[in-house]
Amino acid sequence: METLTREEMEKIQLERLKETVNRVYEKVLPYRQKMIEAGVSPEDIKTLADLSRLPFVTKQDLRDNYPFGLFAVPKEELIRIHASSGTTGKPTVVGYTEGDMQVWTECVSRIAAAGGAKATDVAQICFGYGMFTGALGLHYGLENIGATIVPSSTGNSEKQIMYMKDFETSLLVATPSYALRLAEVAREMGVDPKKDLSVKIALVGSELLTDAMREEMHKWWGDDVLVTSNYGMSELMGPGVSGECEYTAGMHINEDFFIPEIINPETGEVLPAGEWGELVITCIKKEALPLIRYRTKDITRLIYEPCKCGRTTCRMENLSGRSDDMLKIRGVNVFPSQIEEVVLSVEGLGPHYEIIVEREGYNDKLTVRVELAVATDSFRDLERIEKAVRGKLKIMLGLDAKVQLESPNTLARFEGKAKRVKDLRKK
Ligand code: ZN
Repeated sequence: METLTREEMEKIQLERLKETVNRVYEKVLPYRQKMIEAGVSPEDIKTLADLSRLPFVTKQDLRDNYPFGLFAVPKEELIRIHASSGTTGKPTVVGYTEGDMQVWTECVSRIAAAGGAKATDVAQICFGYGMFTGALGLHYGLENIGATIVPSSTGNSEKQIMYMKDFETSLLVATPSYALRLAEVAREMGVDPKKDLSVKIALVGSELLTDAMREEMHKWWGDDVLVTSNYGMSELMGPGVSGECEYTAGMHINEDFFIPEIINPETGEVLPAGEWGELVITCIKKEALPLIRYRTKDITRLIYEPCKCGRTTCRMENLSGRSDDMLKIRGVNVFPSQIEEVVLSVEGLGPHYEIIVEREGYNDKLTVRVELAVATDSFRDLERIEKAVRGKLKIMLGLDAKVQLESPNTLARFEGKAKRVKDLRKK
């Protein structure tokens, strides 16, 4: 399925799309209402281009139909329920039939294999187990490949390092920020991640992996470690929507299960291949919760050129951010990932930082707190670093920022998704 020609793939996609649209029209009342309002019926879907005639689905639709209102199967057919932690209000609930679990396992197996996973690997899963789809998703996929799973979850980092050493963990699953934290803890324990541990593969997800962050991963874990990012979200299934291969040139989308589109987030208009915009995904092989044209809020672009690995599936560029995460500071659009890029490019700084946005009168004030890699009292060094960060931020964002250097080990560390932005303007 990963090496079909475009024509073969599109044939499968169209068949599955028609089937899915028919089914949700029949079985899911809110969908039928949306389609009637948009003046489109299942018979109107004759080609893949007709997909753009269908209405979008958003997280709000899931919330409005909490918990099971968008499901296309009766509750008895579900064998698993997950939920994403909503920071405000109700979480979004997702469910899986037995068939969905098989598809999910298949999808994750593919992205894990693309990232180098093998049956001989010892895979330590340092994602939080629970309602979050990340841990169990990777768990089933890697187990299906035949890897030995160490379901260590998050927390108790010293014990994590002990397992890693004693079990000779070769594959690590974590967020990029927790992977760095684990390397830091290892060093504090006198364990050198490069020499004393056996990790050769890192499957990172649930957080942006910027190029600078990938370099940082190599710095701490070793140049020979294959660090690949993968993508998914619970609403669509969990991890397994797409993942990088060993060429790390964009994430291969499992296109026989998910049709990607890129839209202009402001107008909703579909953009031509190659352009940056918001990713919209249609699930075409899901039974319980087949979301159609789901707006992910993630900003990326699609690459259809064949990949060196031989897979012909479309790739999505590593995310440049979520439209949700974008900060508007003094009228300028700022992605936290841009600030990260600057911070990680300056010598003498560690990978830990915090972004604070405040309002003084009518003016937005941006402060970037960054941790030094090594403690220093040298005023010259501190001045050089502070100036470098401020200068690069000015070039990158066109904004003046206050840069605050902190001693090593003072900023917060994260076991799951890092929370590095404090926007105090909202309060
Ligand atoms: Zn590839």
